[in-house]
Amino acid sequence: MRKLASIQTVNAVEPIPNADAIEKVRVLGWWIVAKKGDHKPGDKLVYCEIDSLLPERPEFEFLRASSFKPAQTDATGVVTVPAGFRIKTVKLRGQVSQGICFPLSFLPTGSPEEEGVDVTGLLGVRKWEPPLPVGMSGKVKGGFPGFLPKTDETRVQVLEAALLRHKGKTFYVTEKLDGTSFTAFLRQGEFGICSRNLWMDETDQTNVLSRVTASIKLEEKLRAACERLGFELAIQAEVIGPGIQKNKYGLKEVTLRVFNVFNVDAYRLVDHSVMLATLTDLGLEGVPQLGTLTLDHTVDQLVTYSEGTSVLNPQVQREGVVLRPLVEEYDEDIGGRLSFKAINPKFLLKYDE
Ligand code: ATP
Ligand code: MN
Repeated sequence: MRKLASIQTVNAVEPIPNADAIEKVRVLGWWIVAKKGDHKPGDKLVYCEIDSLLPERPEFEFLRASSFKPAQTDATGVVTVPAGFRIKTVKLRGQVSQGICFPLSFLPTGSPEEEGVDVTGLLGVRKWEPPLPVGMSGKVKGGFPGFLPKTDETRVQVLEAALLRHKGKTFYVTEKLDGTSFTAFLRQGEFGICSRNLWMDETDQTNVLSRVTASIKLEEKLRAACERLGFELAIQAEVIGPGIQKNKYGLKEVTLRVFNVFNVDAYRLVDHSVMLATLTDLGLEGVPQLGTLTLDHTVDQLVTYSEGTSVLNPQVQREGVVLRPLVEEYDEDIGGRLSFKAINPKFLLKYDE
């Protein structure tokens, strides 16, 4: 689970060229621009990651002009995301800044003070979620099924220790596409589709996920593959195209690009080579494969590496890259499969509203 607000220690403080009032502060694998002299190495503080939504409290009011987001409500008027101050990637004097720091005194008295403690709830911080685009709602069958893993990628900035542990290992790199997460599965003969968090009704054609499912005959494809492979499977993909995330790739129609093939019977993700072979077999496209690298990188090097344009549309910055080992393995820091993302700061500065 992502810790939006946590207690951390300042690793380093460095000057920013041509800036005398501000400097950059290192917390975990993140750089944050702060007022000069506010922090020194070894200081303990509360660090809030990008995508934090800070509550409307007097101590955060200074963020109103730059960061206020009104409450979001659903069709019935129920508040889905409260009003607050949204922390996002910014650039100051040429330095990318990701997150915000506060003194420990901002926490209620008696709060824990150990490094790493998650204080998201104590501070009243929520996760900022952009409003749901039209066409993304539809008839729901239920919550995300327990027999499938949810799709998620941990940010490289919180994995400094893991990068050292996995040093020397070969990782394959894919382009992270900016669309919407999608899962389709066969289980005990039943076909189903899911959004990031919900099991959707595949017969409700008002939903873009149902429409793309029908247009590429996904159910037939999965059933045929199941016959050939001898096990029931699920695919997890990014759905991209018109109406989704501003169609950055300039596509003519909605399509999907697979990043996971899952053996439902064994509750196991298949390894990279099997995934690619299965996709060919299914007649489905994968996310763009960018080759492999031998891990020997710092967080900053991987963030730099994430910069570049999209394979799908060289006119736009790519969202980032996802790194995974060729053979699936578990990672203790991630608390799940070894896989993580490095997001392109140029993409965040341009598109993250
Ligand atoms: P966070 O968890 O950091 O708050 P988030 O929940 O918005 O962010 P994303 O930044 O969208 O998650 O990252 C994870 C998602 O990226 C996956 O759920 C998947 O849908 C999508 N994705 C796009 N391209 C890829 C890819 N090449 N490999 C893996 N996942 C990808
Ligand atoms: Mn996530």
